[in-house]
Amino acid sequence: PTDEALLRVSGLAYDYAGVSAVSNCSLELRRGKIAALIGGNGAGKSTSVKMIAGALRSRSGSIMLDGRDITGLPAHKVVELGIALVPEGRLVFQHLTVRENLILSGHVRRAREKCTQSLGRVFELFPRLKERQAQVAGSLSGGEQQMLAIGRGLMTMPRLLILDEPSLGLSPILVGQIFGLVRKLNEEGISVLLVEQNVHHTLAIADYAYVLEKGRVVQEGEGRRLLNDPKVKEAYLGLV
Ligand code: ATP
Repeated sequence: PTDEALLRVSGLAYDYAGVSAVSNCSLELRRGKIAALIGGNGAGKSTSVKMIAGALRSRSGSIMLDGRDITGLPAHKVVELGIALVPEGRLVFQHLTVRENLILSGHVRRAREKCTQSLGRVFELFPRLKERQAQVAGSLSGGEQQMLAIGRGLMTMPRLLILDEPSLGLSPILVGQIFGLVRKLNEEGISVLLVEQNVHHTLAIADYAYVLEKGRVVQEGEGRRLLNDPKVKEAYLGLV
């Protein structure tokens, strides 16, 4: 009970066909906070969050949620415990409508009874999705698909929302909106683990951040502090 960690991940590792992608990912997210995982292309960020969400199975280490060991649980069980992963690349069902995509996610056991309410909430957050609810997802713009992907995550009523590069490929205005939304969801009580290459924006809103390089966490600290760290500035902010 004195433990403030909602999520505590330690020593995760993953190989693809014998090639190491992640060798030591350890991080912690305190209840009600925003933690960020930053790092360059191929650093192992997506692989790490897929392990946390149960989509990939780590070959070592542990994943604790609220003091409970969830290491090795498959994705459908992890969702039921309140972890939602919004994957990179806006993976939505292209041939289903916006509404169908949302309702499908809302049918997990933990959220089923509140499905109608959750749908209303998602439409309130994203009026654009409400307008286009009968349209097939594949015909949405990139930004709209990203909103839909986030909406699908919210339909599962997560305690912990993991967002994998939500700002990727979006216009500067939409990027600003996405970061504003992350903040708002967090203020409403959802803990957030944010994977991003948009390091400046990310460190500005993250309570705490981890830098992943070649599959290992090499640096960590408060978001604001890392924003002013010379090494981070040089490697990720293009400043010397
Ligand atoms: P990016 O920001 O470019 O998406 P990332 O930090 O999320 O990068 P990962 O996608 O986790 O990195 O990839 C880590 C390493 O694992 C990379 O070298 C990548 O090529 C490799 N990798 C990822 N997925 C697979 C796969 N399905 N099969 C083989 N190798 C993979």
